[in-house]
Amino acid sequence: MNDKRRAIVIGAGVAGLATSVRLASQGWQVQLFEQNDYPGGKLSWFQQDGFSFDAGPSLFTQPQLLEQLFADAGEPISNYFEYRRASESCRYFFDNGKRLTAWADVQALAQAMEVQLGEPAQNVLRYLQSSGRTYQHVGQLFLQQSLHRLRQFPWAKVAPALRHSRPSLLFGSLHGYNKRHFKTPEAVQIFDRYATYNGSNPYKAPGMLSLIPHLEMNEGTYYPRGGMISITQALHQLALAKGVQFHFSTPVDRIIENGGQVSGVAVGGQNLPAEVVVSNCDAYFTYHRLLQSPYEAKRLLRQERSSSALIFYWGIGQQFHDLGLHNIFFSQQYAREFEHLFRHKNFFPDPTVYVNITSKMEEGQAPAGMENWFVMVNAPAHHGQPWQQWIPQVRQRVIDKLSKALGADIASLIRTEAILDPPTIEQRTASFQGSLYGTSSNSRLAAFLRHPNTARRRQGLYLVGGSVHPGGGIPLCMQSAAITANLIAQDYKQEGHAV
Ligand SMILES: Cc1cc2nc3c(=O)[nH]c(=O)nc-3n(C[C@H](O)[C@H](O)[C@H](O)COP(=O)(O)OP(=O)(O)OC[C@H]3O[C@@H](n4cnc5c(N)ncnc54)[C@H](O)[C@@H]3O)c2cc1C
Repeated sequence: MNDKRRAIVIGAGVAGLATSVRLASQGWQVQLFEQNDYPGGKLSWFQQDGFSFDAGPSLFTQPQLLEQLFADAGEPISNYFEYRRASESCRYFFDNGKRLTAWADVQALAQAMEVQLGEPAQNVLRYLQSSGRTYQHVGQLFLQQSLHRLRQFPWAKVAPALRHSRPSLLFGSLHGYNKRHFKTPEAVQIFDRYATYNGSNPYKAPGMLSLIPHLEMNEGTYYPRGGMISITQALHQLALAKGVQFHFSTPVDRIIENGGQVSGVAVGGQNLPAEVVVSNCDAYFTYHRLLQSPYEAKRLLRQERSSSALIFYWGIGQQFHDLGLHNIFFSQQYAREFEHLFRHKNFFPDPTVYVNITSKMEEGQAPAGMENWFVMVNAPAHHGQPWQQWIPQVRQRVIDKLSKALGADIASLIRTEAILDPPTIEQRTASFQGSLYGTSSNSRLAAFLRHPNTARRRQGLYLVGGSVHPGGGIPLCMQSAAITANLIAQDYKQEGHAV
């Protein structure tokens, strides 16, 4: 008879997959239920007319967190996954004609910012050093463990972290912080954009987010062979190798609880028992749908949701040598763009446009002589706006902006097209309001107000993924899985089980 303890994971997003691997490695018998017929949640993929498209995330940083997962699971990552460091992190295009290639080499980047933008190289180097220190002292402390188990929190590290945290990091906005550090509006805009890495507004989010450039510019960006989807595939294969049982196209209807104790899930008309249930579903829907507690779900909305996205996947019948893997075409009026996204909950007429092209890195992602463009603009969270009316307008503005910047008639080059909008993001990945990163960081206390990895007043229930601590994006989802698995290991210490 199998005497392993039973754990059920709801959702095969990257955090759900990573948690299932960690629990299986601890000796749990893990069953994972996913409503879609594929793993990966937001990190999915499709092919159309010979073009491959990563549907969601396109930027891969901190590969060491994936390395760590494989090492902890005792499997060589090289059997599953390959990646390489990119020589540049992004190409920036400004409406005033200025351009910048952000080289992976920090000295070359600083030099390029001086020559192309007129920003003194010393400003860039100083900023990135400070960004690295903030990550080391503060970021790691708050991102690598639960903030809600006070007895286990490494309090000894708090005083040094506070000593490092200048008031502008804690109390001012990211934009205010950047304005103090840079002379040129272009440099400020480049570093303001990092707030969007967790769906936030640089004019509201704290200066503390200035630690994000460290991860991209000091530590580097990476390209996974086969595109981003290979991260999902590697995690799925690893989970299978560790004995996780997958049930695709099987939505969980309800989490079963009795007197504050969770005892399993209701799925397909059956009640399945488990000692531990981990929800990788958005925290809002975990409460609203799975725990049938709309009141608790509503309380989560005290925090503003992160932004969503509108994406045009275009097969382009030409190659553009001015473009790289990641490209940004900035709005001229960045502050107004964020006002529209977060305050008016609509699109600004001159949106910042991001273009990702994996065929720059790898043949086979697009037919010969062509490119696979993932074209994204930030979108407000979904509140029932008239998307079908807006999408053709935004599409035309994006085409006009790119055509002007690149000196080509982009509309005539589109060979194939697909579109992803906020309601579809919500529907496909059960992310409330189509938010890419759960709640935004548009307040000083956002990091502390994110939902914990445990459910209050319910033993046996844990939450993992982009909508809970420590936040959204692939690296934080990896951390979320590690924190959650550690909490479960502490709560269910059992002889013979690795903790
Ligand atoms: C367009 C876009 C661009 C992005 N860009 C980047 C980027 O460049 N870099 C980066 O690091 N991050 C990026 N992100 C964010 C990143 O994709 C997410 O933070 C991360 O993938 C979230 O993973 P997750 O584990 O929280 O789960 P999700 O991906 O949200 O998956 C949750 C899963 O749970 C399933 N589920 C929900 N309810 C149920 C139920 N009742 N029963 C069964 N299954 C259920 C869903 O179907 C889904 O598969 C982007 C996201 C999007 C959408």
